[in-house]
Amino acid sequence: MTPLIELSNVRRYYGAGDTEVRALDDVSLTIEDGEFVAIIGQSGSGKSTLMNILGCLDRATGGTYRVRGVDVAELSPDDLAALRRDTFGFVFQRYNLLANASAVENVETPAMYAGLAFSERESRALALLQKLGIGDRASHRPGQMSGGQQQRVSIARALMNDAEVILADEPTGALDSGSSAELLTLLEGLHDEGRTIILITHDHSVAAHADRIIEITDGKIVSDTGAKTTSGEREVYRKDARAPSLVTQVNEAVKMAFRSLRANLFRTSLTLLGVIIGVSAVVAMLAVGQGSAKDVVASIETMGSNLLFVRPGAPGTRMRGSAIATLTMADAAALGELENVIAAVPTRSGRETLRVGSIDYQTSIDGVSADWPQAQKWELTEGAFFTDSDQSSRRSVAVIGATVANNLFPEGGAVGNYVFIGGAPFEIAGVLEPKGATAWGQDRDDVALVPITTGMMRLFGQNYLSSITVAVKDTKKIQETEASAQAIILSRHGTEDFQIRNTASLLESVQETQNTFTVLLGSIAAISLLVGGIGVMNIMLVSVSERTREIGVRMATGARRSDIMVQFNTEALVVGGLGGLIGVLLGLGISLALARFGMSISITPEPAALAFGSALMTGLVFGYLPARKAARLDPVAALASE
Ligand code: ADP
Ligand code: MG
Repeated sequence: MTPLIELSNVRRYYGAGDTEVRALDDVSLTIEDGEFVAIIGQSGSGKSTLMNILGCLDRATGGTYRVRGVDVAELSPDDLAALRRDTFGFVFQRYNLLANASAVENVETPAMYAGLAFSERESRALALLQKLGIGDRASHRPGQMSGGQQQRVSIARALMNDAEVILADEPTGALDSGSSAELLTLLEGLHDEGRTIILITHDHSVAAHADRIIEITDGKIVSDTGAKTTSGEREVYRKDARAPSLVTQVNEAVKMAFRSLRANLFRTSLTLLGVIIGVSAVVAMLAVGQGSAKDVVASIETMGSNLLFVRPGAPGTRMRGSAIATLTMADAAALGELENVIAAVPTRSGRETLRVGSIDYQTSIDGVSADWPQAQKWELTEGAFFTDSDQSSRRSVAVIGATVANNLFPEGGAVGNYVFIGGAPFEIAGVLEPKGATAWGQDRDDVALVPITTGMMRLFGQNYLSSITVAVKDTKKIQETEASAQAIILSRHGTEDFQIRNTASLLESVQETQNTFTVLLGSIAAISLLVGGIGVMNIMLVSVSERTREIGVRMATGARRSDIMVQFNTEALVVGGLGGLIGVLLGLGISLALARFGMSISITPEPAALAFGSALMTGLVFGYLPARKAARLDPVAALASE
């Protein structure tokens, strides 16, 4: 039968050249199932080195080490992890328990890596603690237990996956004589159950409990009392373990992440703060940006989406429309004849002083045609708009906006009264319904309208138009109408000395400006998120160096590299996710608060999703390097770290 453990000419040298230390020098050794072996030697003789090699925590420099005939030199890191998980159980002089986990959680660790279901894991761990006489300490942390109790927890942990071989390195080294005796009795009991025990000690009275004593000095075996297999068949614990599913693995990792983040609460909160500030900045800034964009768009939309604006001046010229003399009344009339046009309103604008009695008031005067209310969809609150006949007979009538009416007739009763415009009396025919200010803060009610014919004759002294506003019947065909309007004026003028815009194109250019603004706000916020991410990486790196020993313990209990990767990545993800969640809520809160102070905001799910997603990504990206660093640690080096 192949022996359980077979070392032939195993060497382990540290360093090279002058500083070379031969911790193990040509060790050959066979250990069979069910033996109870003590390896004895003075401090520095190579005992721990031997145990690390036996337990696959370390690799030999030379020679071969076979476990049940398999040469461990040919095994992958994951295969070695499987050996540590299922075949070997470690008991260390300094217990090596996870400080943040309770006794029962510590015992469960190896089974977690073996993929045992939670309920079975917990009941087995509790049963083991019970069997070892510390069932009442199950929920205590290592710091709340005596050395002897902690060592029992570590034995329970070693038994969790039903290890065939218990490797105990100076297990009594830190215990008082009473606890030592109890521990040795425990080990003898385990041996009687059929388990293979390899006990390392420098103490002959401890070694005397074993059936076989191997003495090493300076890395060489100097004596061996020989094999004496006493125990019979071992009752094997049949565990129903599979490789853990990703869901279980992540679930465990999340629990573990919360545990270790809680253990460093202050540090965790600072890291979270970075992410929270970044995320809430993104959410709040985008809400403000989108809110103001929506405002502008809304006020453009109230102008009506069925309007075309014709202005004098070639495309690209920046001169003021009123100074360019190209558009005429005849142009407006021609546009009015087009298909799909409700009205083409010629407009000439100017500023004049209006006088009623002793009140002077300056406002803008628009000379327009009688179909202006139809085109603008603007009602009157009093009186009536001037008519076609008023227009053709050039009557001196005016319709005034609400602001003008309030200023000139504070007591009301404007209609039927006279107002002097540019020195000439105009009869007030009506008052427009109030419409409020535009997005640019211009008061739309601060205006007076006169028939364009009268205006040209009496006020403006010009026969050219400032603009023509064309109202379209069917907005779906606005493009076609715009094209025919373009064509007809072009054919009348011979050159393109005018420009036509519609509300849609106006909207487009405004939205472009707004988008730039939003992108700007967004990038500022993104930078703060990046800073938060670097914070996460920094904390995770610190955490890896600080927790090297914990990583070593996890590896000794059978964690694969991927388990360690998942654990550290999950911690970073939890920081990112938690920070993202709090940040989104805070950002929404800030937005709502700003809204209460009168700022217009717009809350949409996209920025929140984007910011939360980036926070998660930040965790993932910035957690990766530290996680990889942790996963690549050498088990024995990690365990040796302070
Ligand atoms: P023991 O457990 O018997 O006290 P060790 O196996 O720990 O002895 O060490 C055996 C020898 O190897 C000692 O001389 C020690 O100094 C040396 N040694 C152990 N680990 C290292 C290491 N990582 N680097 C260099 N030398 C080491
Ligand atoms: Mg040692």
